[in-house]
Amino acid sequence: MIHVTQTFLPPIEEFEKILKRAWDKKWMTNRGELLLELEETLSEYLNISNFFITTNGTLPLQIALKTLGITKEVITTPFSYVATTSAIVWENCKPVFVDIERDMLTIDPEKIEAAITENTEAILATHVFGNPCDIETIEAIAKKHNLKVIYDGAHSFAVKYKGKSIFSYGDIITTSFHSTKLFHTGEGGAIFVPNDDLYKKCYYHHNFGHNGPLEYHGLGINAKASEMQAAMGLSVFPYIDKIIEKRKMLTEHYESLLQNNENLTLFNFRDFTERNYSYMPVIFKNQDHLELVLEKLAVLKIFPRRYFYPSLNKLPYLENSVSMPISEDICNKIVCLPLYFELEKQQVSEICNLINSL
Ligand SMILES: *Cc1c(COP(=O)(O)O)cnc(C)c1O
Repeated sequence: MIHVTQTFLPPIEEFEKILKRAWDKKWMTNRGELLLELEETLSEYLNISNFFITTNGTLPLQIALKTLGITKEVITTPFSYVATTSAIVWENCKPVFVDIERDMLTIDPEKIEAAITENTEAILATHVFGNPCDIETIEAIAKKHNLKVIYDGAHSFAVKYKGKSIFSYGDIITTSFHSTKLFHTGEGGAIFVPNDDLYKKCYYHHNFGHNGPLEYHGLGINAKASEMQAAMGLSVFPYIDKIIEKRKMLTEHYESLLQNNENLTLFNFRDFTERNYSYMPVIFKNQDHLELVLEKLAVLKIFPRRYFYPSLNKLPYLENSVSMPISEDICNKIVCLPLYFELEKQQVSEICNLINSL
């Protein structure tokens, strides 16, 4: 059985050895020693400060909207995981979709200005599959119209843009350490906030608003990560470069075998991007061909996943669904092929041979 991904797990003894430190201290959460150590480790690896780890990658989106005081319209991408939209709706804000760039799959900045109204307060866009949004153009539009910029960087761990961590661009940037993601803590995530004042507000918000046991800095929620999550992260982290290296090799193998297939297009990343090889998206010429490929792969017990489907403007709980022609078209034709540490080169060959035979 081959799925789109498989969680990377280190030898269990390595996890247990780290977890035992929490056991010995009888300290399981509330920013314990393991969590602080993981934050320090990631800070060094990403060369970034002003962030903290959270219990998943969805609450940071909500904390971002709440902390920035967003209550009205948020311009967002229809091509992402459902959490990008649901966080906006959950915070009682209105998602205003802007279609994507066909070749980049990220929000199309050329179309953003037409969607701005007097109620627009923020842009929430996803660096989809680790491909950076058009950061410079978005920043210029945001400045001109006095909008906040939040990036959903759930796919972007270890991605660099123009030599810097992708997590350093924007007002607030979030990521996910869910077990399907490149780097994981089982469930988990992080929030990056370059501005010091805003960082402090986000920090208080993720811990009930606490400022010590007796004082409160306003309203809060609980988005803290536990020592179990930190232990998982600390035991996975030593392998991260090896994980990326292996995925790079597999990706290059996929690309070399599929590049001449006229029934599909491979995906080109934005210039100045250092990739993380988190996904292997392939866009077929039409939905029928995609479905044929999925059907034939399923016979061999190979299950890619239709990331992303449906286009988020089609979510059943949204009123007045607008049409997003490019995103909807891509959603009908795109699939992410299996890509994970334990996948073998030979298995990639088999998958590609089958795809090329159809
Ligand atoms: C995974 C994902 C999230 C949510 O992260 P969780 O850690 O599962 O809450 C948000 N946005 C995108 C684009 C994702 O892929």
